[in-house]
Amino acid sequence: MGTPAAVVWDPALLGYDLGGDHPFNPVRLELTIALATQLGVLDEVELLHPEPASDADIKRVHDVSYMDAVREAPMVGWDVGHGLGTPDNPVFAEMHEASSLVVGASLLAASRIASGATNRAVNIAGGLHHAMRDHAAGFCVYNDCAVAISWLLDNGADRVAYIDVDVHHGDGVQAAFYDDPRVLTISLHQSPMTLWPGTGRVTELGGPGAEGTSVNVPLPPHTRDPAWLRAFHAVVPSLLREFRPDVLVTQCGVDTHEEDPLANLWLSVDGHREIYRVLRNLAEQHAGGKWLAMGGGGYQLLRVVPRSWTHLIATVLDRDVDPETPLPHEWVNDVLRRAPGAQLPRTMGEGKDTTFVPWDGTMQEPVDSVIRDVRGAVFPLHGMDPDDPRD
Ligand SMILES: [Zn+2]
Repeated sequence: MGTPAAVVWDPALLGYDLGGDHPFNPVRLELTIALATQLGVLDEVELLHPEPASDADIKRVHDVSYMDAVREAPMVGWDVGHGLGTPDNPVFAEMHEASSLVVGASLLAASRIASGATNRAVNIAGGLHHAMRDHAAGFCVYNDCAVAISWLLDNGADRVAYIDVDVHHGDGVQAAFYDDPRVLTISLHQSPMTLWPGTGRVTELGGPGAEGTSVNVPLPPHTRDPAWLRAFHAVVPSLLREFRPDVLVTQCGVDTHEEDPLANLWLSVDGHREIYRVLRNLAEQHAGGKWLAMGGGGYQLLRVVPRSWTHLIATVLDRDVDPETPLPHEWVNDVLRRAPGAQLPRTMGEGKDTTFVPWDGTMQEPVDSVIRDVRGAVFPLHGMDPDDPRD
């Protein structure tokens, strides 16, 4: 400890703008940085400015034909294929450049950790976990998470653990490393029966030679903080203990919130804050303190994302913000200028109790059937007893 954490940010990252009424609006990043700044979370913190990722690095997880399509799409305009030009993934000006910068931001964060300059780094503009080798998906053009993990494996890390707490399945990252036993991917998400992309079932366990390194925890709609945390604690810490990663990489989407317009889990900002604190603890206990945190989904742009990701940045910096902290007037007034009449919260939390009862091996709550299924499928592959709550 003692090394400062790195925060990667540059206003140029706002150029990843899918335009119009698209829910992935970069204002969520702008308002987060403004809130973190006005609360003093970023005082004395040097923001690191990224360069666009090189083609060679993007090629780690994407096909050249797809990269060419992304580059040319703004000129071609229509029928470019590769998932581009759809309502989810509209073509926009400088799409390749903006997407490469997001990847570069996660790579910069990864490189600071790999060099030993810092133990922790955060890139709230990253977390584009749905992008696939040859196509865009779910608002994601290039998969910065997968590129960063691939780069870490080539720069000193023998094993990387990836935890994805976005409400959607981390399908692109899972696919990129499905056959790679060096990468443990764990995704907690709303059940694929009820939400796009329809993958992330318990039975997706990893390819030959990598069985058990793909872990999925599909949660029923309307899951709240205590049940989410109960499931997380019943599955994740034991796996990290067994896997012994060199780095923990996390995708910290906040579309799990009750007010998120795109999904149906019922977490709170207080729950998000608790999740980040747990992730930090796990990095300290099982990954030598090394933690690369990225953003992700989150579409309640004014009331949820800025608060939740300010908590993320604060947690990475060990500057935890009390949930009862009032929102700064200057920030509130700025938001109200942009969105007159917006109903804004007054504090950094929502007064929710995130206390949960640890799973004890018996069936007590609805989420326990998920816990039983996941542990039953995964734990034996790691030499652990699915029925023993000490494992
Ligand atoms: Zn999402």
